[in-house]
Amino acid sequence: MTADFRLNPNVTALPPYNAGMNIAVARSRTGRDDIAALASNENPYGCSPKVMDALKGVNPSRYADPNCTALRATLSRKLAVPASRIVVGNGSEEMIAAICRAALRPFSTVLTVKPGFGLHEIESRANGAKVVKHPMTKELDFDIDGLLAKLRKKPTIFFLSSPSNPVGPALNRDQLRRLVGAVPKETLLVLDEAYFEFCGADAVDGVQALEGSGIAYAVLRTFSKAYGLAGLRVGYAIASDERIASAIAAAKTPFNVNAAAQLAAVAALNDQGWMREAVAKVADERNRMVREAARLGYFAPGSMTNFLYLDVKGDSGAAFDHFLSRGIIVKPWLEPEYATFIRVTVGVPTENDRFLNALSELSDTFVVKEQCE
Ligand SMILES: *Cc1c(COP(=O)(O)O)cnc(C)c1O
Repeated sequence: MTADFRLNPNVTALPPYNAGMNIAVARSRTGRDDIAALASNENPYGCSPKVMDALKGVNPSRYADPNCTALRATLSRKLAVPASRIVVGNGSEEMIAAICRAALRPFSTVLTVKPGFGLHEIESRANGAKVVKHPMTKELDFDIDGLLAKLRKKPTIFFLSSPSNPVGPALNRDQLRRLVGAVPKETLLVLDEAYFEFCGADAVDGVQALEGSGIAYAVLRTFSKAYGLAGLRVGYAIASDERIASAIAAAKTPFNVNAAAQLAAVAALNDQGWMREAVAKVADERNRMVREAARLGYFAPGSMTNFLYLDVKGDSGAAFDHFLSRGIIVKPWLEPEYATFIRVTVGVPTENDRFLNALSELSDTFVVKEQCE
């Protein structure tokens, strides 16, 4: 027995990350082959064929460039930000971890929202910080006034995803301007724009909007969603200055982004046409799903992403089982106040039809369940 060994209590007390069910697990659980994986916001159209071509050039036996020089140069041109302010991670989730490691100390506080993205809380707590989660409004919009009040307490980090995961809306220009105006000099704003590419051309671009704002910030973007590279793990941070970028880079592991991911990300950036086409198809389907769900009596807040956040008006775990029995993986929301919500990713049209069909049968499941209880 090694029960005397003391682990880090910040880590042993962490809430689990609510990851979407793996397809192989769903197959063995249901005995079905036709699994529609609608839990993890991946791109249902895969990735650009140019990425698949580029992957043929991977050299598995050499260490990859620890500085991602070619990828950062490509990003620098595209974003008009010096490469010295860009750090690439093993997914943007590694950047969340590195930022926490670089910025937090015992007794730091972190401000974020609920419902929110699990890792904003988990990585903060793993680094010893106390996390304050400010609720979204009743209508599930950002509560700007409430957040301004909380920013007066000078949290070390303020994590916010816009567009919001899991809810879907993005900050408008005025909301972002008011938040930025209230970020104290003691606070690092982390604006997580994992779904930026789905917002459409008129959306606020955090990289541009924060440039020259004078606050300390990092904007996060990823190749996992619109670019369809979730399995390769690559995302990045754009920091407000070189000093902050260097600290984030120092806090990551040295060979964090593998050779395949670096080649794939450059190829993906060089095929904007493929990405835009996939995003447009997803946005059309998303709008159709919102309309159809509303027709069935389920309201989803306006989404600027590739997913819907739906109040199923019953236990989200029971709803998860209902969809899984029909071969559909959704994500049940587990934060206590939001445990009647599920998050469902927009898939290809046939998958979305299957989801809508199963949604139309959901109220029967809940009624039967209540009668049994
Ligand atoms: C998916 C997601 C991420 C993580 O993406 P990776 O780059 O795959 O690590 C980060 N933030 C939010 C809000 C996300 O939804």
